[in-house]
Amino acid sequence: MILEVNDIHTYYGESLALQGLSFSVNEGETVCLLGRNGAGKSTTLKSIIGLTPPRKGTIVFDGQTISGKPAHKIARMGIGYVPEDRRIFPGLTVRENLEVAEYRRSGETPAWTVERVLDEYPMLAELVNQDGDTLSGGQQQMLTVARSLMIQPRVLLLDEPNEGLAPVIVQQIGRLIDELSKTTTIVFTDQSVHFALKHAQRAFILERGKVVHEATSDDLRNDHETQERYLSVA
Ligand code: ATP
Repeated sequence: MILEVNDIHTYYGESLALQGLSFSVNEGETVCLLGRNGAGKSTTLKSIIGLTPPRKGTIVFDGQTISGKPAHKIARMGIGYVPEDRRIFPGLTVRENLEVAEYRRSGETPAWTVERVLDEYPMLAELVNQDGDTLSGGQQQMLTVARSLMIQPRVLLLDEPNEGLAPVIVQQIGRLIDELSKTTTIVFTDQSVHFALKHAQRAFILERGKVVHEATSDDLRNDHETQERYLSVA
């Protein structure tokens, strides 16, 4: 098990957003957190990375408890995070956006360098000297995912990677997830079940801050009752 989320309770002020949420992920798996608007998907990822630390419960990454540690330490331990709002640095070029994120753990040869990212993602190589603020939504998404690789993640958290993107870009993001999933454990969130079924091996369905259903994608594909009950199927 590379990631274990055990009975976490996360608040915004006094308002309880996650109420006893648990799930775990095996090394090498790609899983999706599904659920309608407000179910708690983003808060779960933010709790793992330490932006909204849980007040109760524990999160264990590769045998070490990470809940309670600051976000930058959790990231450097090897958890990459791509927020919903794709925060690229608009005043920097594509190359500079990658360079500022580069991090090497001492004693380790980094799997990802700026040059490797540019080699593997020609779409970004073409844009390398362009300012971040001139990129389209899809290009920004590719860049934020690529940038998250610069900390050499063993687990990658992607918050609604498809939101607001045109279908052709969604396909590209899907291909990117498939490619990265060969070497990295991935947890992504989505509101619609189609993309999840295609790109994740397992899904956890959230409702009101809890996991209410867990299934392999193959089982969920045929379980129309669960899909209709908890998800927007559109
Ligand atoms: P979405 O698809 O809208 O992002 P979600 O499943 O990711 O939905 P969260 O954003 O995690 O859900 O929200 C879970 C709950 O926490 C919701 O009730 C939401 O209103 C509340 N919440 C989220 N962000 C905040 C915030 N910054 N302050 C207060 N409450 C928040």
